[in-house]
Amino acid sequence: MDEHSPEVITAIRATLMAADLCQSVRKDLAGGESILKEDRSPVTIADFGSQAIICKLIKEKFPDDVVVAEEDSTELRNPGRSNILKQVTQYVKNLIPEVSPEKVCAWIDYSSHVLPRRFWTLDPIDGTKGFLRGDQYAVALALIEGGIVTFGLMACPNLYRVKDQPHMDKGCLFLAIRGKGSFQMDLKGGGKEPLSVSKTAAPSEALFTESVEPDHADHLFHQRLAQKLNIEKPSLRMDSQAKYGIVARGEATLYLRVPSRSERDYKENIWDHAAGSIIAEEAGGRVTDTVGNPLDFSSGVKMEKNHGILVTNGILHEVVLEALKI
Ligand code: AMP
Ligand code: MG
Repeated sequence: MDEHSPEVITAIRATLMAADLCQSVRKDLAGGESILKEDRSPVTIADFGSQAIICKLIKEKFPDDVVVAEEDSTELRNPGRSNILKQVTQYVKNLIPEVSPEKVCAWIDYSSHVLPRRFWTLDPIDGTKGFLRGDQYAVALALIEGGIVTFGLMACPNLYRVKDQPHMDKGCLFLAIRGKGSFQMDLKGGGKEPLSVSKTAAPSEALFTESVEPDHADHLFHQRLAQKLNIEKPSLRMDSQAKYGIVARGEATLYLRVPSRSERDYKENIWDHAAGSIIAEEAGGRVTDTVGNPLDFSSGVKMEKNHGILVTNGILHEVVLEALKI
């Protein structure tokens, strides 16, 4: 597979359209941040719209491929949610004119949770809480073949492209093909540049990133681990798989995800890590769970064989795994 492969071309087109839809939903709510806090419907609309578009485009080009995506249309088909379905259809119509409410539901339901040898994973909006807060979120799509992620794509509409200019040039598209490297582009699919992880070899100089939501990771444990490793910088909290992107481009050295105290046995979803993991790995990073096992993309939608996630620049992986033991 290379950048000219139909998988890559189709996935880029689909992901950029989905990101466009997500941005439109947010733009229409400009100044509406306080409404967003009480009303989750914008994220519901964007979530369903994003999944409908991506499933439709993938299935059109690859009718035999399975898409393992987060949503199904049960909620949308509920007569009490007809207003939401109407809005999803309208947003999709701006990008795919021939859509209808019935088609929206049918496209969403192309998703299956049965895993064949080759399938796509899709998180139509990863980081819904970030989307609601006006922070980071990602549209994350990946291709898995024989348990290995072979291609990953991630659109982060709210992520700055240039490190020290956080308010300029927002919107990143991360792309990685197994064996071919990891790249960042803009949200028009242009400005492609190769990514590489940081060269930091001293744990004390590392910057680590973690979830914003305390329910998604054990912040206190991360802080203790950081102290043990003599990490001096405070953590960078960020929603969604954008965390993998900032490790891939060398901005953060580590991404820690130790399960929270409230849900110690939490099993991660494959669509929350497939795209991000290949983007970090192809940039020279290493991704395992918190005990050093490779990520399990073939047991089911849940990563049953893993406990938490550790992403590093590679150089620091063993040191952090060792520190995680106690
Ligand atoms: P993040 O934005 O990195 O905090 O991760 C967002 C993802 O966390 C969502 O897509 C959820 O699937 C996932 N999630 C939900 N509950 C938990 C939990 N208890 N522990 C870890 N991840 C979770
Ligand atoms: Mg998610």
